[in-house]
Amino acid sequence: MTPTCTIKLEPGREKKIRSFYPWVQKGEIRRVEGGRDAGLARVEDHEGNFLGIGAYNPVSRFPVRMLSLIDRPIDSDYFRERIGRAWSSRQEILTSTNSVRAISSEADAIPGLIVDVYDGHGVVQVRSQGMELLRDAWTPVLIETLGLKSLYEKSDMAGRSEEGLDPVTQVLHGEPPFELEIEENGLSYLSLVKYGLKTGFYLDQRAARARLRSLVKPGDRVLDCFSYVGGFSLAAAAGGAQVRAVDILPAALQAADRMATKNGLAVDFVESNAFEYLEAGGEKDGLYDWIILDPPAIAKTKEKRDSLKWGIWKLVFHAIPMLKPGGRLVVFSCSYQLNLQTMLDTCRLAASDRGEQLDLVEISTQDTDHPAPLAFPEALYLKGAWLKKRV
Ligand code: SAH
Repeated sequence: MTPTCTIKLEPGREKKIRSFYPWVQKGEIRRVEGGRDAGLARVEDHEGNFLGIGAYNPVSRFPVRMLSLIDRPIDSDYFRERIGRAWSSRQEILTSTNSVRAISSEADAIPGLIVDVYDGHGVVQVRSQGMELLRDAWTPVLIETLGLKSLYEKSDMAGRSEEGLDPVTQVLHGEPPFELEIEENGLSYLSLVKYGLKTGFYLDQRAARARLRSLVKPGDRVLDCFSYVGGFSLAAAAGGAQVRAVDILPAALQAADRMATKNGLAVDFVESNAFEYLEAGGEKDGLYDWIILDPPAIAKTKEKRDSLKWGIWKLVFHAIPMLKPGGRLVVFSCSYQLNLQTMLDTCRLAASDRGEQLDLVEISTQDTDHPAPLAFPEALYLKGAWLKKRV
């Protein structure tokens, strides 16, 4: 495809584009020349100097997403180069697992395309109008470069409506499985490809799971809240811990239970709202050495940040009395809107409201197959605060 319009930016707005930031907001556009429909755009500064080629979608919060800073066609060759680069950077991770995020949207310079690969089967999410229009250019290249046995599209996330797109789930290649067993650091997990959350599994927590496994001591009592298919639960149990997993989604707990058995591990599962479970003092189930809190991104927008903060406060406030002195509390935020400092402040407030103190022991982020380019701060979305309750 080639550009159908030219977009001139307001003075000064060219700096961020030249510094590799991929999004242009509505107020940063001075003028659109040519076609006004969604399509490719030639992006220029206010004096008409070329800045790059972007995907233009007038209805989006980010009407321009930059595709290239050089003047070139956005075609199969373009995708062959970008997808090839992303895929080769994943090969190291693939030595310890058979499943990986292959394409991470803006973070891999392919705005709006997410691809997770589970044991050779791809699951794609199309999050932008631009990638929607470029389907024919990327789909065959993706299948070929990644050598995919199948490709399933699971574009059912809320963000699509903001782009003016309807939800879509469909088979793009081969015969995608309903669910798939995957291997990670010697453990088998189940990715709920067709009926689970996101693309079926949370690959972004891989490094944190391995870290937990290395830190727990045999016999430690671990409470894994928001356990989904048992990512942290199975890792902790493999490290010798006694684990209780809490989640609200029966299908996720069933999957976790099956995989616990398959791995020869014992985990205790509780189907419950984790907020209520913690508030009730976990049915007075005794004190824990570890409590993991990995809630979903309840706030995607700035406006909802307060509700996310309040949610974290509540979880931490109720978790603290369930921890042994010296016990560890691991709190995650997977929303860019709640940054690390705000998260730590929220934990500090919850602790002081309990008359307790927490020490920060370490900080974790998403695993490296979800790259975090400094030029695009929004890419660093997952933060983990590993805290210790003062004795
Ligand atoms: N820790 C997991 C990922 C968690 S995803 C891993 O590493 O794989 C978030 C999970 O929170 C989902 O499984 C979802 O079912 C669950 N969830 C959402 N709201 C909940 C609630 N109020 N109580 C308990 N679980 C909830």
